[in-house]
Amino acid sequence: MLSGDLVLSLPGLKLALDHAGSVSMGRRAGGSKTAGLHENSSAAAGIDACYVSHAHSDHTAGVKSGKPLLASKETLALCKKSAEVGITHEKISLSPAGHMLGATQLLAQCDGYSLAYTGDFSMEGGLTYKGCKPLQCEVLVTETTYCDPQRSLPTKEEVFTNMERWLDENIESNAIILGGYSTGKAEELVKFLNKYCSITPIVSKSVDSVCKIYNSLGCDLKYVPAGTPEAAEMMSEPFVAVMPFHQVNRRMAAEIGEANNMNVLCALATGWAGVHDYNADAVFPLSDHADFDDIVRYAQESGAKTVLCALGENEKAAAHLRKVGINAMPAEKGVMLQQTLA
Ligand SMILES: [Zn+2]
Repeated sequence: MLSGDLVLSLPGLKLALDHAGSVSMGRRAGGSKTAGLHENSSAAAGIDACYVSHAHSDHTAGVKSGKPLLASKETLALCKKSAEVGITHEKISLSPAGHMLGATQLLAQCDGYSLAYTGDFSMEGGLTYKGCKPLQCEVLVTETTYCDPQRSLPTKEEVFTNMERWLDENIESNAIILGGYSTGKAEELVKFLNKYCSITPIVSKSVDSVCKIYNSLGCDLKYVPAGTPEAAEMMSEPFVAVMPFHQVNRRMAAEIGEANNMNVLCALATGWAGVHDYNADAVFPLSDHADFDDIVRYAQESGAKTVLCALGENEKAAAHLRKVGINAMPAEKGVMLQQTLA
């Protein structure tokens, strides 16, 4: 399961970082400094613990490993893990990554080296989490979801303003269903509806289960779970609902409209708006990832001498970053990194 994972090696600790590859820090037996990367699974053997940067399912493989977990208390709660499986380490600190509730980035300092691993991040805060601040480091391992100069995202405030306008224009005569990933994005949508529109939405079962955990962590989301008498009453006239992204499309909206004898519009929230086609009445570019300019800004402000591209199309991302003067390489090229730091 750990094959291909990023593994951070510190004296006395081998820590799997979300996914893909292997980074080691510290000194070799001969005394030379190393910060290397190995993409084979043998480096992952003997893992002591797993770092889970946030609760999105493509980052939580370590939760099932049975190993101790380095993660925020929010991430542990969202992964339905007791705080007792959580560990800390004197050479590692975690700070907000600006991606969802509990998402962290990691800074490891060892033998005079510092390495930061962003996980998924954004510089801008959301309605349920704080934004990310660049960490000072020599080696930066950055996510690269939108690491392409073509990918420029509007601010969240702009997106929320547009969503509010669209709702205002349509809410009188239509029920509205908003779609976003159940963990993280759907809760942002609920908070947006509460805060910007003074709307209490109905939410589906899977969104309700995450909202419950958000509220147990102090988020104060106001919503009504589907299937309750209160939700049934709300659905006797045009209502607003939040559902998982993959369930929301025009066909589903039409079926719900037919069943409730009203017109239903649907909208999706995704950073891929304008890139992919979606079968929805509106698509809003609400993203919790850094766009290209923010990845560049992070890399520059971090002072990193070397930037390793991870969690995306790493080769292409590194080429884009090199064009703007950043010493970047795909995370897989550990040998090159060792040479750089030798
Ligand atoms: Zn994520």
